[in-house]
Amino acid sequence: MTSAIEEFLRDDVKLPSPPAIAVRILETVRREESTFRDLSRIISADPALSAKILRIANSSFYSLSYPVDSIEKAVTILGVDTLKNIALSFVVAQGMRGTTEDAFDFDYFWKRSITAAVGADLVAKHLGRRNEDIFVTALLMDLGIIVLYHWKTSAYMQVFKDKRMRDISITEAERRIFGFDHQELGAELLRSWGLPASIYEPVRYHQHPEDAPAAVRPQAEILTLGDALSSIYHGANSSAKVRKTKEILGWKHRVGDAEIEALVDAVAEKSVEILSSFEIDPGDFKPYSQILEEANEELGKLNLSYEQLVLELKEAKDKAEKLAGELSEANEKLRELAFRDGLTDLYNHRYFQEVMEQEMGRAARYKRPFALILFDIDHFKKVNDTYGHPAGDVVLREIGAKVSQLVRSSDVVARYGGEEFAVVLPETDRQGVGVIAQRLRRGIEQMAVVAEGITIQVTISLGATSFLPHLGFREKAHMIEMADKALYESKRAGRNRATFIELE
Ligand code: GH3
Ligand code: MG
Ligand code: MG
Repeated sequence: MTSAIEEFLRDDVKLPSPPAIAVRILETVRREESTFRDLSRIISADPALSAKILRIANSSFYSLSYPVDSIEKAVTILGVDTLKNIALSFVVAQGMRGTTEDAFDFDYFWKRSITAAVGADLVAKHLGRRNEDIFVTALLMDLGIIVLYHWKTSAYMQVFKDKRMRDISITEAERRIFGFDHQELGAELLRSWGLPASIYEPVRYHQHPEDAPAAVRPQAEILTLGDALSSIYHGANSSAKVRKTKEILGWKHRVGDAEIEALVDAVAEKSVEILSSFEIDPGDFKPYSQILEEANEELGKLNLSYEQLVLELKEAKDKAEKLAGELSEANEKLRELAFRDGLTDLYNHRYFQEVMEQEMGRAARYKRPFALILFDIDHFKKVNDTYGHPAGDVVLREIGAKVSQLVRSSDVVARYGGEEFAVVLPETDRQGVGVIAQRLRRGIEQMAVVAEGITIQVTISLGATSFLPHLGFREKAHMIEMADKALYESKRAGRNRATFIELE
């Protein structure tokens, strides 16, 4: 044992005890004078367990030539050890299921473990190494994962994540986080349950049989092979895993390809049966050769309609491109909306502030002129009072539209607030802004707004200021304040006029 796991077992964790009935089964079998009658009595006391055992005893897994209809008969025929192991398998798999809230998929875990047990048993038989412990050993080899998950759920989720993200083995990910791995923990757990060393020692090395002492290695290898066979049916890259299995079995054990293919298929066939005995839905569990055959058929169908496929692909691509275009248009619109004033469709205050900042920075950097006009509708309150608020809205909209027409497209017209507007004029000096301010004043003065059948005429008061490159960067608030001061000056002097104030 490494010191990390010793510490873990001492401080953090009390290993889960086996389910009560398993304890009784184990105790009975351990007793020297135990008889098959003792074992059958314990099992028979649990009708659900008995039913499962009879079902498996009669399955093709044991291919007995006559029906087994009682537990006593099953014990006689299959032997105490085999029956003990079957019973233990059921009891542990039953007792260690999660809830639907668990992020961990217990059904998948047991499905994979049961397939591994079937695979280990079949491959052991093929290599002439079968014994009554193989099935239960392979079934329980990953139990350490469940224990770790239960005790340190979030840390264990990190193990899964590390494994995926860093592309490292699960044992390496575990060792990085806990200092030991589920092989060691599983072995300690099974030892604490009183299971024999022939079971818990191979578990300690089931992913790395090359590390095992010589005496344990053959069994550990069987576990690795069982795991490899199981992995073909669970998870991605089946064909790569078949190739890997062929490599191990072919190279190390001189098993031919055809034999291995038959073995791989047999794992699926037997697993379906065993999974049902464990009351786990096998789902769409097909022999590998059948999966291949079906894939080839599909491929054949695809080949036949190759041209059609190309056509469909092209259509799908066009559609995707169109969608992408629409999406970016929609995004553009959204962005615009965030900067637009809902009533006038002019830029809003937020955008005005941003543009001011940008333009001031640019003007200062490149020593370019740049001007600002603020204007306010004269006696607008009276417009609202006389013609109504909706008519006032129409006036605001028309003024916005008119001003936009009267300036350059590079100028930014914004609704500063209420009935005040701002025009940001890049590349405009003091003469220029004076001309434009007068143009706007006259334009509005001459404009007749028709709202609700009535013609309304308004005037505006303007305040202008211009940024002087030689002043360097000035705070934008200062520039706005100067324009506002000029606007106030226009109001004070009688309205419908423009005032210019030099930036100081
Ligand atoms: P002055 O010449 O001094 O600017 O007089 P004024 O009446 O225009 O100034 P005051 O600030 O007293 O009134 C502004 C009015 O603008 C009051 C407010 O109801 C109106 N107003 C502000 N926003 C809107 C709007 O979105 N729609 C309409 N219809 N009216 C608005
Ligand atoms: Mg006003
Ligand atoms: Mg006002």
